[in-house]
Amino acid sequence: MENHKVVVVPCSGIGKSLGTVGRVATYKVIERMKPEKTRTVCLALLTMGDDDALKLVRENPCIAVDGCPAQCSKKNIEASMGKLAHNIVVTDVLRKNRSLKPDGVIELNDQGNKLAEIIARALSEKVDEILREEKCE
Ligand code: SF4
Repeated sequence: MENHKVVVVPCSGIGKSLGTVGRVATYKVIERMKPEKTRTVCLALLTMGDDDALKLVRENPCIAVDGCPAQCSKKNIEASMGKLAHNIVVTDVLRKNRSLKPDGVIELNDQGNKLAEIIARALSEKVDEILREEKCE
């Protein structure tokens, strides 16, 4: 379908560096890597049932970016009947990159930023893949 954007939805993860990693990765994608193909939405608006937020996640493919296995973003997109196309959990990526030790909440340390960059690259590739598949449908 045309004009669809991928909605990348990070969890709120306040007070946790893993949540910050997910948010930083999301901003890298929506602001730098794929600004014309993506957008985001505030998870709290979805939780509150905001009409515009619900419409956005129901009409566009979504990627949930969660800090930990609680997967708050993924669960909220599903509960909102959104089009969940993919999800990433920071702890899963961390398990494959054990040398990186993210730290910091407001500002990540260098290793946290490296982890965010790895996740952002994976997200960016996934955005292209999802939009390619949408065009073929
Ligand atoms: S997924 Fe984990 S880090 Fe993110 S908001 Fe939920 S509990 Fe917090």
